[in-house]
Amino acid sequence: EKIKGIILDNLLIIFMVIAVIIGVSLGLGLRSSWTANDKRKIFLLQFPGDLLMNMLKMLILPLVISSLISAMASLDPRAFGRMGTRAVVYYLTTTLMAVIIGIILVLSIRPGKQGGEIKKTGQGKSVEPLDALFDLIRNCFPNNLVTACFQKVETKVTKEMLPVATIATVVQNMTNNMTTVVDNMTLTTMMTVEPPEYIDVPKVATASGMNILGLVVFSIFFGGIIARMDEEGAPLRSFFVSLHVATMKLVNLVIWYAPIGIIFLIASKLVGMKDPEVVFKQLGYYMATVLAGLAIHAIIVLPLIFFIFTRRNPYKFMYGMTKAMLTAWGTASSSATLPITMECLRYNNNIDPRVAMFVAPIGATINMDGTALYEAVASIFIAQYIGRDLNVGEVIVVSLTSTAAAIGAAGVPEAGLVTMTIVLTAVGLPVDEIALILTIDWFLDRFRTAINVLGDSFGAGIVQHLSRNDLEPLDETGKETGFNK
Ligand code: ASP
Repeated sequence: EKIKGIILDNLLIIFMVIAVIIGVSLGLGLRSSWTANDKRKIFLLQFPGDLLMNMLKMLILPLVISSLISAMASLDPRAFGRMGTRAVVYYLTTTLMAVIIGIILVLSIRPGKQGGEIKKTGQGKSVEPLDALFDLIRNCFPNNLVTACFQKVETKVTKEMLPVATIATVVQNMTNNMTTVVDNMTLTTMMTVEPPEYIDVPKVATASGMNILGLVVFSIFFGGIIARMDEEGAPLRSFFVSLHVATMKLVNLVIWYAPIGIIFLIASKLVGMKDPEVVFKQLGYYMATVLAGLAIHAIIVLPLIFFIFTRRNPYKFMYGMTKAMLTAWGTASSSATLPITMECLRYNNNIDPRVAMFVAPIGATINMDGTALYEAVASIFIAQYIGRDLNVGEVIVVSLTSTAAAIGAAGVPEAGLVTMTIVLTAVGLPVDEIALILTIDWFLDRFRTAINVLGDSFGAGIVQHLSRNDLEPLDETGKETGFNK
């Protein structure tokens, strides 16, 4: 059994690596005959990739809720408190370390001063840091659990268009997320009565995704309450434990489709991307700075911290996370990768189910080392490019706001670009200059997402090691469910 598992697992890693290679070659190959205007063809090419994205996103909701609630329901309050504190301390220190690496590199390489013009596209919207903070806190308390799982539709429609637009959205979202369907049905009935008002509040944390943070906060409290109930809590507890076990079995199936999805996600992105000629020169230095920072953080800093705390081989642990990191690279979303992260943590790296269920969803939502590093480098790069010298105080502000902006960023593609407005506004840099780095952001996004996932994973390993005396040993069923019979 065990040997079979190991063979299958390595086979899957090989498939994924091959998928990345095929995806890149296919994309670059097709670029010579297709143009970015062949939208329909690119759309079709992306189709198998969309299916992967949808399946992964579909798993987020049952996974986040069932993991956190079961974990909370199985931990005693003191163990939970200690584990939570350790996780948060780890998240904050490693994120800050990533930012410092980024700042040291960008100040010494000075990519913004390397000469040459950058072609700009698009524009940014300014966000007051305080509004962003309020938005983050507001998101912790969703007013409706169903809409918290809702993929926001940004387009504004007029009253006359509402029925048509709503039906279109229902059809579009049918496969996207289980609750979206329910939500749209409510929406349709609601809208025939009265159209919703569009209030313009800044939505930073949920700019392009569901409000996972809100679901995380809810699940922690809900699970904590179940833990304190006696027999009345038992049905709920076994329901969520059972939901978790079933969801993980589904993850086990979906993961076999991942290589196919990855091929087409990457190929379609490469075919559809804007002309990369702008990449060389200044932007090339900028990219090299971000990538070097990420590499140092991933290959030296995080493994060292992991080794110091656990005395386990960090590179073996990292190898155990390969599938998750490749999925992160392919999807550019740490939330979508969460199912695979959980699978790798539990089955490849032997992380206690209670630790994985508790730490992984929170990490995927708030711990983003790669994003923080990138936000710091990008802001200082912009300052250098427009000729603004930042003083020491401002650099400190950049490091603190980058950490905050990374916590606020949702685990969806290019969310970091949105929350970077917080950093820029905090030091008075023009938000429109984000346009400088827009064209290549999708590329860096993949690498920073992989590092975000790696950071969460090492975190789970460290928290598990430090909490080993707080957790009761598990019996055979407990190893699967987190509960002893
Ligand atoms: N795409 C990143 C993630 O999901 C967030 C970002 O930096 O844009 O982790």
